[in-house]
Amino acid sequence: MMHKNFYFRSFQVAVLAFILIVMAGCSLYPSIEPHKPTSMPSTIFTNLVATDSHSKLVDLPNEQQEATDGQSYTGASDKMGNVAADSQAHYSEFDEIEPIEEVLEKADSSIDQEEASSSIHEEEQQQSMKIAITFDDGPDLKFTPQILDILQEKKVVATFFVVGIQVKKYPEVLQRIEAEGHLIGNHSYNHPNFTKLTREELADEITRTDELIFGAVGHVPTIVRPPYGAINDANYAQIEEMDKSVMLWNIDPRDWDGSSVEDMLENILANAKDGGNILLHSFGSKHVENTVTLLPLVIDELRELGYEFVTADEL
Ligand code: ZN
Repeated sequence: MMHKNFYFRSFQVAVLAFILIVMAGCSLYPSIEPHKPTSMPSTIFTNLVATDSHSKLVDLPNEQQEATDGQSYTGASDKMGNVAADSQAHYSEFDEIEPIEEVLEKADSSIDQEEASSSIHEEEQQQSMKIAITFDDGPDLKFTPQILDILQEKKVVATFFVVGIQVKKYPEVLQRIEAEGHLIGNHSYNHPNFTKLTREELADEITRTDELIFGAVGHVPTIVRPPYGAINDANYAQIEEMDKSVMLWNIDPRDWDGSSVEDMLENILANAKDGGNILLHSFGSKHVENTVTLLPLVIDELRELGYEFVTADEL
C-alpha cells in the first residue's frame, strides 16, 4: 500500500510540475514581446518633448518610422535626462499611436512642473534673504537692556560690537547679550581711530577688550569692528594675524547723528538687501533713544519684506 501510494503521489507531482512548466512558458512569452521595440519609442518621445511638441506632433507617424534606427536621437535623449526616463514608462501606449493627447498632456504637464519648480525656487530665494542688525559702543545700563527686550520680544538675533571700557562696567549686560543668543564682536577698549595707533597700541586695544569679554562670557570674539570704520592696510593685516576678521557695515542710517526715526526707517528700507549689515548703536549718543523707537519698526518692515535676521557672521 505504502509503495503504491508513493508511486501514485510521485506521478501526481510529475503531472502537476509539467502543467506548471507549460503555464509558466505561456505566461512568459507575452511579457517578453513588448520589449521588442527597445530604445525606439523613448527616443521619439524625447525628441518630441525636447522640441516644440505641437508642431512635431503633426508628423508623429513619420517620425516613428524615421526613428526606428533610433541612434540619431541618442544625444538628445542623454541631454533630456528626466524627460526621457519619464517617457520610457509610456512607450507601450506610444506603440498604438493613440496617445497624441497624452503626449500633449505630458508635454504641458512637464512645462507646468518646470514653472512650478521655478516659482518655488524664487520663493526659496526670497525666503533666504539675510540681514544683520548690529549695535556698537555698548553695553550700558539704559539702552542696551531696552534693545535686548525688543529683540527678545520680536525673536530676533543681533550682533553687539562692544567696547572694553563698557564691558568692564557692565559685564552682566554682556552676559545677558550672550545668554540670549546674540553675537559679540570686539570694538576696541577706548574707541580710538585705529589708523592713528602704533602696532602695540592697536594690539593692546583689542587684547584688553578680549580679556574683559572672556572674563564675562568665557570666550573671545573672532570679529573686530574698527571705531568710525577707520582702518588701513597695516591694521587689517595685524588684526588678521590675531586670527580675527574685520567687519564693517553696508547700511548706515546715522542713528548717532540725531536722524529722525522716519528718515532712518526710510534709509534702511531703501538700502536693505540680502547680506545687509545695518549699523546702529546701543550706547554712546543721546540719540540712541531714537534707535530704540526705530528698532521694532525696522524689524517688522524687514520681516514683511521677507528678510531673515541673522548674526553678522552668518551673512
Ligand atoms: Zn563705535
